[in-house]
Amino acid sequence: MPEFRPGTPDQDAYLEELVAAGLLVRTGVHGVYGRSGTFEKVRNGFDELVTRTAIPDEAEALRFPPVLPRHNLESTGYLKSFPHLAGTVFSFEGTEGQAAQMFEAASKHEDWSEHQHQTDLVLMPAACYPVYPAVAARGPLPEGGVTVDPGGAYVFRHEPSGDPARLQMFHMRELVRVAEPETVATWRDAWRDRAIDLLRGLGLDANFDVATDPFFGRRGRMMAASQKEQELKFEILVQIAGPEPTAVASFNYHQDHFASVYGIETSTGEVAHTACLGFGHERIVLALLKTHGLDPQAWPEDVREQLWPA
Ligand code: AMP
Ligand code: ZN
Repeated sequence: MPEFRPGTPDQDAYLEELVAAGLLVRTGVHGVYGRSGTFEKVRNGFDELVTRTAIPDEAEALRFPPVLPRHNLESTGYLKSFPHLAGTVFSFEGTEGQAAQMFEAASKHEDWSEHQHQTDLVLMPAACYPVYPAVAARGPLPEGGVTVDPGGAYVFRHEPSGDPARLQMFHMRELVRVAEPETVATWRDAWRDRAIDLLRGLGLDANFDVATDPFFGRRGRMMAASQKEQELKFEILVQIAGPEPTAVASFNYHQDHFASVYGIETSTGEVAHTACLGFGHERIVLALLKTHGLDPQAWPEDVREQLWPA
């Protein structure tokens, strides 16, 4: 059972400050907030800064809605590694009588799940998931592979928490590289260094570290140990509302995992490798607000200039 993780006193206080300033709006569910125009202006300014930084990559833009065909989640092993984080879409398929029963139970806020049936969709767990089957469907990669920009997509993770930086629905700005192993590994490491410069350039005290994914269960602990040993995941961490610094960006080298699932081949017929990077939009906005204050109009001129160039 994914448990609700209460916020620390500092996290509770920061959330309260953000709500009082109108930057976040409570919905009644932890980790799901409305956001003000000011919050969105910072988020979009950051997203555009990433786009400008990525110009040399000549990435191909591809956008997907924030739902994923259930088949894709089933094929990639997500339910083995992260069964506790997945969100699935259910809907009503029944008679008028059953609809009335469902409505009756729902009106009293009782359990109405027996009237719901699984659909072909799940909520998007990461912005890169729909990219791999789309690239695979085109046949072998061109020479040098491809770089895809799936934009800042909404993703879902079932991890309710009182920490304003731990959301259930948030924007993940990804870039995805699909190519020969060496090309992919070099790209991942180069972006980690570019991203550190980008975040430090915005005045954030950003540092990177080897990291692991929150794999489920005992088997998951072994997977995390192996991931760490092979340095397959790096994170950039920034202090937000503590106590530990929070990951604001991740750099993942999947080796042949996704390419094998979908049969992506290089131009010479080898199994391709993939890597992705993901900036957590909301965490970056929260880190900027924490560092420079809750009024972006009063932020240092060089920070404003990078987010909103004249
Ligand atoms: P991951 O795929 O888990 O490495 O996530 C990519 C990025 O999304 C992380 O580096 C975070 O910045 C952000 N992120 C992950 N989980 C959450 C969450 N629960 N709330 C807000 N941002 C998150
Ligand atoms: Zn990804």
